[in-house]
Amino acid sequence: MPKRAVVTGGAGFLGSHLCERLLADGYHVVCVDNLVTGVARNIKHLEGRRGFEIIQHNVSEPLYLEGTVDAILHFASPASPVDYAQHPIATLKVGTLGTHNMLGLARAKGAVFLLASTSEVYGDPLVHPQPETYWGNVNPIGPRGVYDEAKRAAEAFTMAYHRTHKLRTRIVRIFNTYGPRMRLNDGRAAPNFIRQALAGEPLTVYGDGSQTRSLCYVDDLVEGILALLQTDYSDPVNLGNPTEVTILELANLIRELCASTSEIAYKPLPEDDPKQRRPDITRARTLLHWTPRTDLGVGLQQTIASFRQG
Ligand code: UDP
Repeated sequence: MPKRAVVTGGAGFLGSHLCERLLADGYHVVCVDNLVTGVARNIKHLEGRRGFEIIQHNVSEPLYLEGTVDAILHFASPASPVDYAQHPIATLKVGTLGTHNMLGLARAKGAVFLLASTSEVYGDPLVHPQPETYWGNVNPIGPRGVYDEAKRAAEAFTMAYHRTHKLRTRIVRIFNTYGPRMRLNDGRAAPNFIRQALAGEPLTVYGDGSQTRSLCYVDDLVEGILALLQTDYSDPVNLGNPTEVTILELANLIRELCASTSEIAYKPLPEDDPKQRRPDITRARTLLHWTPRTDLGVGLQQTIASFRQG
């Protein structure tokens, strides 16, 4: 019997890549999404494939499924700062109630549960780069608090189920990731800059652009997630690309790759915007023998090409 995996947020950017990869690996896949920030088009090409089911459902409400489930990958959540500012309560609910519901489903089915957590649990970090042992610097009442605290609660829920019910759990802390199927209007730096560069509009750099991020290509990330799923490791694992760039460098690189003559337009820095971010991936390297392979320029070129195709 093929294994059956549930992917919540399966029509989202990361979720859709995961569904595709799990199907390719021989899993049956149940894609659950309420399409608030997920996009039906992301999974259109998988519709009708043997072993692929789609359920439109908000996992902040309980979900009962027939049949066996071997793995639940909980990826449902608005995930860009613009999206969670637009859906603050839904973001809090899916990270807390949604995680509780999916842990309950995993327990009922005896499935392994993998939580998509985030580098946002480190907030505006005072330790650089960020190892999993760092507890973070999060403003609970700021605009990002709805996402950061929901994911921190999700981690606490996951560990509680692991400790109390001996549930097999995994926690992946995902750092900035980019690639095809990001929404051009999700508000994040890479899709914003690409959209603006291709349209000949100014690239909106927030603040002076000296804040840093480290961007991982989606295929590398998916590889790491699948590797983590196969382990029996329940503590959090950072996955991301440790190559750090300033946002201004990113804007200039994208402008160059798009052969664009757009200007840079400096805009105010959003509240609580982390000043620096880079994963310490020693744990992932040691445990999973995983390392991201895609160079930023190459990954961006592939992303730009996919955005050009529309
Ligand atoms: N950013 C920017 N211009 C944009 C979008 C984002 O300068 O059009 C900056 C943002 O302020 C942050 C960084 O790029 O410092 C990364 O933002 P993103 O929304 O991609 O995700 P974050 O890492 O903050 O969650």
